Amino acid sequence: MIEQYGWSNALRVAFEPHARAGYVPGRIIVQQREANLVVTDAGNLRARLSGRLRHEAQEGGHPAAGDWVALSATTGEGTATVHAVLPRRTAFVRRAADSVQTLQVIAANVDVVFVVTSMNADLNPRRLERFLAAAWQSGARPVVVLTKADLCEQPESQAADIARLAAGCPVLMVSARQGLGLGGLMDHISPGETCVLIGSSGVGKSTLVNALLGEERMATQEIRATDARGRHTTSYRQLVLLPGGGLILDTPGIREVGLIDVDEGLSTVFDDVERLALNCRFSDCGHSTEPGCAVRGALDGGLLDPDRWAHFQKLSREVEAAELAKEGAAQEVGRRRLAAKQRAYRSTKKDLRNLSS
Ligand code: GDP
Ligand code: ZN
Repeated sequence: MIEQYGWSNALRVAFEPHARAGYVPGRIIVQQREANLVVTDAGNLRARLSGRLRHEAQEGGHPAAGDWVALSATTGEGTATVHAVLPRRTAFVRRAADSVQTLQVIAANVDVVFVVTSMNADLNPRRLERFLAAAWQSGARPVVVLTKADLCEQPESQAADIARLAAGCPVLMVSARQGLGLGGLMDHISPGETCVLIGSSGVGKSTLVNALLGEERMATQEIRATDARGRHTTSYRQLVLLPGGGLILDTPGIREVGLIDVDEGLSTVFDDVERLALNCRFSDCGHSTEPGCAVRGALDGGLLDPDRWAHFQKLSREVEAAELAKEGAAQEVGRRRLAAKQRAYRSTKKDLRNLSS
């Protein structure tokens, strides 16, 4: 059953220590502060975070929809406790609304990101780039979807322009109105894989979600569950099985995720790579020809995907450049403040002189 939700051999291996501890695996299909809804081989369970995880969540953020977790055996009433979160393959991250320090994962273990934009006059290449950057940063595979092809005079030439901009990722054209190109989307999702749709409001994401779900409205994917206190709670599914295999994740905030800073959360997403680099013999290893380089070793041994490594390097350079720019701006502010203080000091001195004379 959890195979449908993407449970794999790699996850089974990662889960072994938890299995030995007597825990069972599950995937969060609705994330809520109080209790997550988790799908397991024994059906859906309400699961609260263990005390330790709740404590950690204050800094590292809460587990999110799409996360694989280790649960203690159910207490018989459909409730369980989350004891651990398995390492994420991919993640969309944003700053928590209530804190500048806390990063919140808003969707985990996504395989395919449909970056949706419409082919009518609203098409904005810069905005598309930001959504694409967010998609790349998540670690998932981006696929550009151009909607409303029926409203476009020359869809092919526009698609070709976009393809140049979206270097390397597939570009699909669809018209929900004419029912064209929808099958092409499904071809990009294998059974057990999870997709999300991101893009500006009004480009046709809900329409596509409904089409993928076979006209079942996302909004009616309502579930009633009983929480630990016996109350009935209602929420909307965030991780849903698609009729054609695969899953769609539609969690609050995910759709327009690309509009926030794309330099956030690099360490969260590339945690494994950063940890690997800690094992290099030299602490200032450049990961090229140095002896004892753990990154090279992992690349040669097939343990680190070269594309993922290249992408990590590219994004690290971007983040570095952005940080230098920020520092430069901060120094500039400092200089201006100092100059203003000196001006104030000089004029005060002048005032004092005027007073005393
Ligand atoms: P969202 O905000 O991205 O979820 O966009 P919606 O799915 O709500 O769509 C916004 C508007 O675009 C709605 O009025 C849809 O009917 C319309 N729309 C969606 N897909 C198409 C399409 O393929 N062709 C045309 N002409 N209109 C579409
Ligand atoms: Zn190294």
